[in-house]
Amino acid sequence: MIRQYELVDRILEYNPNADEALINKAYVYAMRAHGSQKRHNGDPYFSHPLQVAGIMTDLRLDDASIATALLHDTVEDTETTHEDISRLFGAEIAHLVDGVTKLSKLELSSPNAAQAENFRKLFVAMSQDVRVLLVKLADRLHNMRTLHFVPHAEKRRRIAQETLDLYAPLAGRIGMQSIREELEEIAFRELNPDMHASITARIDRMTSGDTSMAVPVLNDLRDLLRQNGYMSPIHGRTKRPFSIFVKMQRQGVGLEQLSDVFACRVITSSIAECYQILGLIHTHWAMVPNRFKDYISTPKRNGYRSLHTTIVGPSKQRVEIQIRTAHMHEIAEKGLAAHWAYKEGDEIRSEDTHFTSWINELLQMIEAGDPPEDFLEHSRLEMFHDQVFCFTPRGDVIGLPSGATPLDFAFAVHTEIGYHAVGTKVNGLRQPLGYVLQNADEVEILLSKQQRPQRSWESIAKTGKAKAAIRRYFREQNQAQMISFGRELLESGFRDAGFVMTKKLLDQIAGMIGQKVDPFLYDVGCGQISVPKVIGMIYPDTETHFTTAQIAPIRVDRTGLVPGVSLHLSRCCFPVPGDRIVGVRDSDHGIDVHIIDCAKLVALSPMAEHWVDLRWPTKNVGGDHHLARLEVDLAHEVGALSELTGLLGRVQCNIDDLVFLKRDKSVYRIRLDLEVRDLRHLEQIKNAMSTLENVTLVRRVRGDAQMRLVEEEQ
Ligand code: MN
Repeated sequence: MIRQYELVDRILEYNPNADEALINKAYVYAMRAHGSQKRHNGDPYFSHPLQVAGIMTDLRLDDASIATALLHDTVEDTETTHEDISRLFGAEIAHLVDGVTKLSKLELSSPNAAQAENFRKLFVAMSQDVRVLLVKLADRLHNMRTLHFVPHAEKRRRIAQETLDLYAPLAGRIGMQSIREELEEIAFRELNPDMHASITARIDRMTSGDTSMAVPVLNDLRDLLRQNGYMSPIHGRTKRPFSIFVKMQRQGVGLEQLSDVFACRVITSSIAECYQILGLIHTHWAMVPNRFKDYISTPKRNGYRSLHTTIVGPSKQRVEIQIRTAHMHEIAEKGLAAHWAYKEGDEIRSEDTHFTSWINELLQMIEAGDPPEDFLEHSRLEMFHDQVFCFTPRGDVIGLPSGATPLDFAFAVHTEIGYHAVGTKVNGLRQPLGYVLQNADEVEILLSKQQRPQRSWESIAKTGKAKAAIRRYFREQNQAQMISFGRELLESGFRDAGFVMTKKLLDQIAGMIGQKVDPFLYDVGCGQISVPKVIGMIYPDTETHFTTAQIAPIRVDRTGLVPGVSLHLSRCCFPVPGDRIVGVRDSDHGIDVHIIDCAKLVALSPMAEHWVDLRWPTKNVGGDHHLARLEVDLAHEVGALSELTGLLGRVQCNIDDLVFLKRDKSVYRIRLDLEVRDLRHLEQIKNAMSTLENVTLVRRVRGDAQMRLVEEEQ
């Protein structure tokens, strides 16, 4: 166990102005807080935070990070509260400890491999300050070093898998190669002990004693460089069992075919020397094609720089040679921590600009993701800082852009879940579907089979996926409505003309115009093909008479002009072209068209999204007639009715129906259903009627006339 003064000495080595009092206070506080708690191996628990702090000194971190490392388990595992830390150590350290505590809680739901990438992002997003992540990595490293003391095999495996899925890639991403490799090796040995042992044994056989195949190459390389005046140090090493295992998996080769286990590293004094030595090596040995990589001119995103090449040695074994400067080597081992050159006499504080820029560079690396040769590249749009990550009740992670709502979440899980969402519970509480999701929210979507997408959802949804699914739904819905409207039009048209429209007939007509049945019905539904024309194709000499509108109103909505959906001219107010109209969505039929001041509208749906703006097409398709309903009061005089019908004949208006509503000594009230071309035609007729001496009242019916009459009679 490191002693208190040893820890302080280590920090003072790289930061002479370190706040010793702060470190000592954190040391003593954490030691007392953990008290008699023990680790699995029987050591005092406090040895763990102390070792974590030790790892942080290797990274040459600031006082706040070291104090955080010492205190990182106090809130989670002892009586200590967030307030205690805040009061004793200030807001910055309290914030860092809080971050580590939160990350520790997240570990509980271990991600599967497919979710690992999202989980990594969630992790980073939750940590806010990269120092939290560094403490967490050091914490995991020490826990892995002592993994073999954990008594339950199942728990050891879970921790090892999580390390491989989450922590090792994160360490690699910020360039901390040696931490990454150590984490991977321990995890691999735990998860696959047999394979680990086999690979290790094979490497031992290939490298041990006189039979070693690596030594001649190493010696030759050293001689070659010396003869050419380079005194560069050379290190031979075997690759790590885990990286050999990954390579075997990727290339599908067995252990016995494995020759690619050696690597040498040449450390040069300048970049120019790197390329000169590379040239020497390539003229001396055969190089393996496609294995040369120049990470000096094109560094990896995590800052790694080096030349890589693979040559074929005298006994046909392959040897990878890495050539890099001493500075590049330091970065390769420690990541950007090596960049952060401490300036003599400077005090290291988190507000130190150099320190801050290092922290920022780390963040950018994590954002930038792994280089494409290592992993499939993730879309730049999915970077964590404009993302939120939420959980399903099962613990799966769903990544969404920030500002996303539970509705987006529902569509991200499955389109059908989106379509049937009626509500949501976020962290167990009922919330509206438009609630703005926060990181780590647990989202439950409440479903109903009866639910269908609502128009208002288009403004609630933030993701392209959800918006597209909602629009697609309405598009398909409109299409289906048009098809059934086309069918209705044809059926009633045929019926009115005295024929029956059968399926066979429908197939035949569609065939005659070279279409399939549904697209044909769709065209009829939106007025591209007129019903009389269709009937005329089959029964050329038929006179047709229609009560259904032949001019389909055009729908106007946010998306602009769209040809009419399934529209029905309502039978309560009988709209005609020229009337100001409005559509009301009816779940059974499509859209009912009413005059804007129809009395019946009051009783209809108060929900705004059920209302549709409509207007008539500007060009009237000539010759079509619409029904209009009038109430007319006539004086009880002989010949009054014949005078009226005579007038209608003269203005060429057909009477479709005539009903006596009321008859008393002085007045007849009649209801007339008239065929008119449009509103202007109707107005002309009304004016002409009111000039007649015996007509005392002409009134157009808007809304339910019967109902109004009953009221009048009471
Ligand atoms: Mn810990």
